[in-house]
Parts: sequence; C-alpha cells; structure tokens
Amino acid sequence: MVRFTVLASGSKGNSTVVSGGRTRILVDAGLSCRELFRRMKLAGEEPETLNAIVITHEHSDHVGGLAVTARKLGIPVYFTEGTHRAWMRWLTPRRQMTYAQWLERCRRQAAERQAEADTARDAGETDEADLPAESGPVSPGPASPTMGRMDAAEPITEAADPGPATEQASTPVLSRREDPTWLPAVEYFQAGQPFEIGDIAVSPFTIPHDAADPVGFVFRSEGVRMGFATDLGYIPPNVKAQLTGVDLLLLESNHDLEMLRDGPYPWSVKQRVLSRVGHLSNEAASEFLQNGYDGQAAYVILAHLSESNNLPELARVTAERALSGRASLLANRLLLAAQHEFLSGIYF
Ligand SMILES: [Zn+2]
Ligand SMILES: [Zn+2]
Repeated sequence: MVRFTVLASGSKGNSTVVSGGRTRILVDAGLSCRELFRRMKLAGEEPETLNAIVITHEHSDHVGGLAVTARKLGIPVYFTEGTHRAWMRWLTPRRQMTYAQWLERCRRQAAERQAEADTARDAGETDEADLPAESGPVSPGPASPTMGRMDAAEPITEAADPGPATEQASTPVLSRREDPTWLPAVEYFQAGQPFEIGDIAVSPFTIPHDAADPVGFVFRSEGVRMGFATDLGYIPPNVKAQLTGVDLLLLESNHDLEMLRDGPYPWSVKQRVLSRVGHLSNEAASEFLQNGYDGQAAYVILAHLSESNNLPELARVTAERALSGRASLLANRLLLAAQHEFLSGIYF
C-alpha cells in the first residue's frame, strides 16, 4: 500500500510522510520533533516505523527539527552534499566563520595536536598514552554512519599533509554531545541520480531556489509515482519533464501576486520571493497546470502557501480555473496542504 501524508506545509515548517511497501520516508523535518511526532500520531503514522529522512534543502522551514528527530529515531538522513554542508554551517553560527575558515581552524588544531604528540614522543611517552580519548577512527553510532560523523572531518584529512598528521587530523573537533550537527548516519545523493530507500525509488531533481543545492523529488513505489516540487522560483524544463506521468502532484502555490505586491513584506523580501530562485506564485502554478502539465495525476496538492501573501481560497480558485480549462483535467482531485494541520493520508 502506498500512502502520502502531508504533516505540514508552509514557511513555518514542512514535512511529509511517504510510505510504500515496508518503507516509510519522512520528507523534510521542518517542525519540532515533538510536533512532528504529535502530528504523525494524529494522522495515523507511527514515528518509530520511519526508515529515513530525505531533505530538499537547508532552509529552516525544512530542517528545523531534523537533528533531534534523526537522533531520537536513530535513522539516516539523505542530503545532497551541498545541502548537508549548508545545514552544518547554519547550525554552527556561533563560530561566525566560513566553511573555508572552519577547515583552516581544524587544520591548525590538528597541527597543534601533532606538535604536542611529537613533543610527548620526544619526551619518551607512548603515542597511545598521549592520544585524546576520542581520537582514532570514529566509532560507528547505533545506525553505523556510512559517512555521517566523519564527513566534517573528511575534507580536513584531504587538506592536511599526508603522513602521521592524517590520523590526528580526522579526530573529531567536538564530542558527539557537543556537536549540533551530529547525526546517526548521513547518506549523500545527487540531483539527477535516482536511488532507492527500501521499497521506495527516489528521483531527485534540481529546482531553482536560493539554497545551496535544492531538489524536488519523484517517489515511486508499487507502480505509483508521486511528484514533489515546492520552493522553486519558476518551473524550468527539467522540472516539467520530471512532473509528467505522476499519479500525485504536490506543487507549490506560494503567493498571490497582487497580495504579495501590496502586502507587508519589505521590498527586498518581495524581490526575493518573486525572483527566479524564490517561490512559485498561484499564477505560475496555474500556468503550469494549464499548459505544462500532462493531467495524469489523480491528486494535485497545492502546497507551501504563504500565510501573509495568499489565501487558501485564492490558491484553490486559481488552480481550479486552470484545471477546468481542460476537460481532461476534471478528474484531477485538488487538495490544499496546510501549515497548522495535517492533510489526511492519500492512499493508492
Ligand atoms: Zn520552504
Ligand atoms: Zn526554501
């Protein structure tokens, strides 16, 4: 059985559960862990049965509850490398440094440790006695990180001089408890390269949005295809191609152009939302439904509606007008995903 449950959608948090066969995936974790679990239970989903979390991009409304949720469940998180790095930077703002500066600091610390080790050796102590408790290969966590905790250290190892310093350079800078970016396991994927999580095939594709490496997804399980595209400034040909032949289409319908123009946002934010890497308007979504979409989906879900610059009824009417313009689309069932309540699971 395939099931699709939107737990929340909008600029205050996004999260969806996709189930197929024996596999359950959480797409984005933009609510607090507590709220995520609460909504899952209300929606008849069991948090403990989730197998993985996949992330579209690093904006806080998509990753706000990620670390706590992944740790609590002990499950892997799938990111693109760019998104993972951006997420790590976002979580460590107190360092106030760029990724390059952070690497440099790690390198310096490794060199200092090496110098101390050398001094100790010269003084006749053994290497082992001098190593800090957490040095050496990082022991796998409960879910055995394939890349997880080591990722942060990996580039440092590459950057460090080869030789004796290498092992020390890969020593974690922070302990697991101190490190806000620690996850039970991290898996990398790339846009354009499909992969599988259990019984669900995942096809990630690039979307135009102002994040490090944002993606949309097509999920496929038991012959059912589900397209997932929010947080995109416009619909380029690659996205159009991905969203053909889907049985369920979740599409952003972020703002009404007029409401945004006359609304409360500062001019610079309005420009950002309207830009080619911002968010999809009701009008742009409806233009796609009318002219770019093949009409194959049994369900069209409008998502990521702005609370300041949109009204559910406006989004609905605009999309309905587009769908009713084509007789072949009348069978499409139109639904709206909301910010403050889940959308009852859709079954196939
Ligand atoms: Zn968003
Ligand atoms: Zn975003």
